[in-house]
Amino acid sequence: MNIHDSEKMAGLLEAGGLTAGEEKDADLIVLNTCSIREKAEQKFLSELGRLRALKKKRPSLRLAVAGCIAQQMGAELFKRAPHVDYVIGPQNIHAIGAITRERGGIAALGENPDIAGMELPALRKEKGRAWVNIMYGCNNFCSYCIVPYTRGRERYRPAGNILREIKSLAGEGFKEVTLLGQNVNSYPDFPCLLRGADAVEGLERIRFVTSHPKDLSEGLIRAMRELPKVCEHIHLPLQSGSTRALALMNRGYSYDDYKAKAERLREAVPEIAITSDIITGFPGETGKDHEETVRALKEMEFDGIFAFKFSPRPGTPAASMDGKVPEHVKAERLRDLLSLQDEITLRKNKRLEGATVEVLVEGKSETDPDKLAGRTRTNKIVNWGQARPAAKRGYEPLRHGDCEPIRIGELVSVKIIRALRHSLEGNPGRGDEE
Ligand code: SAH
Ligand code: SF4
Repeated sequence: MNIHDSEKMAGLLEAGGLTAGEEKDADLIVLNTCSIREKAEQKFLSELGRLRALKKKRPSLRLAVAGCIAQQMGAELFKRAPHVDYVIGPQNIHAIGAITRERGGIAALGENPDIAGMELPALRKEKGRAWVNIMYGCNNFCSYCIVPYTRGRERYRPAGNILREIKSLAGEGFKEVTLLGQNVNSYPDFPCLLRGADAVEGLERIRFVTSHPKDLSEGLIRAMRELPKVCEHIHLPLQSGSTRALALMNRGYSYDDYKAKAERLREAVPEIAITSDIITGFPGETGKDHEETVRALKEMEFDGIFAFKFSPRPGTPAASMDGKVPEHVKAERLRDLLSLQDEITLRKNKRLEGATVEVLVEGKSETDPDKLAGRTRTNKIVNWGQARPAAKRGYEPLRHGDCEPIRIGELVSVKIIRALRHSLEGNPGRGDEE
C-alpha cells in the first residue's frame, strides 16, 4: 500500500516538473511513513533525526512527511520537528504537487471522500508487475488497528477506471497486476472486477491483496477457480487461532469459519498457496489462546506467515484493554510460532523440488547479485542462475545468460532444485527438457 502511495507521489511530483533522484542532489525529500506498529514509528523518528542533520548542512532542502504518521501527528509534527516543511496525510497525496510549490509550514490532513474518483499518475520503477488501487480506506475497525483512523472509510474506485489502468499497463508490457486495498474483497462485485481484468489482453497474472476472511465469498472462490490469470495464492490474515481472541479483535469470524473457507479454497483450487498474518500477545491472550494458534498453524499448514507482536496503537480500543501481555511473553510466543511455521513452510516447499515452475523475473536476487529472482504464481520467491563455478555448486550454468538475455519483467520456466525456508533455488530450463 505504502509502496504504491510512494509511486503515486513520485508520479505527481514528476508531472509537476520534478525528477526523482538521489538524496544528495535533492531539493525535496518525501518521507512516506507507516504507523501500523510502533517499530515503524521508531524507524521514522530515527530517519527524521538523520534528516535534521542533513538539513542543517543544506538549509534549502525541503522535507515533506507523508503517510499514516503524518495523519496521526498532524501539525504537531511542525512543533516536534521544526525542520519538517510539509505534512501530508494518506488521503491527500493528490495535493503533494501544489503544496510543495508553496513555502513550508503546510499540512494537508482532511478527509477526502473523492479520493476514489481521482486518477493519479504513478511512477513505477518495477518492470513486469504493477500495483493498482481498487479501493481506499477500511470500515472494519479491528480493535488493534490504526488504519480506519488514518485512511478513513472505504471508497471504491469505479471499475471502468481500474480496467482502463490495467489495459494501459498491459499495453506498456506489464505482465502482472496486484489489485490493492485494505480489504479488496469488500469491493462491490469483486469477482466481476476480476473477470474484467482477466479479459485484458497481454496481461498474464492477477493478484489481489488483502482479503478479509469474513468477506471471502463463494463467488470469489469460483472466480479464482475459473479465471486462468488469477494466481493460485491468497493472503488471508487469520490473526489468531482462538475464537475468543478473534472476537476481542472484532474480526467478525470464528476459527471454524476461517477453517471452513480455507478448506473450500483448497478444494476449488488445489494448488493454492495460502499465507496469513498472526498477532501474538493481544490483550488478554492466555496460554490456552496461544496454544489454539499453534494448533491452527498445524492444521492450516499455511505456505507462509507474517507474525507480529501486538503493538498498542493510540486511540484504538485494544490499546486500553485489560490483560496486557508482558513483552517477553509476546516475544516468546512469536518465536514459537515462527519456528513452527518455518518447519511447515520448508516441508511444503520441499514438495516443489524437481518441479518446473513459471516465474516472473523481478531482477537480481537480494541474497546473491549473480542470481536472478522472481516469483511463482503461488507467490514463492525463486532465486536462480549461477553465482560461482558450476562444478562447485553442482548445477548447470545459467543457460539463459549464455544464449538469450533474460529480460526483467518476462515470464520464464525455472526448474526447482532445492527448497529453502523462505525461498526456492532453481535452475532455468523448460519443463520438456528432462
Ligand atoms: N487490511 C489488511 C492489512 C492490515 S495491516 C488486513 O486486514 O489484513 C497488516 C497486518 O498488520 C495485519 O494483518 C495485522 O496482523 C498486523 N497489525 C495491524 N495492527 C497491528 C497492531 N496494532 N499490532 C500488531 N500487529 C498489527
Ligand atoms: Fe486494519 Fe482490520 Fe481494516 Fe485490516 S481489516 S486494515 S486489520 S481494521
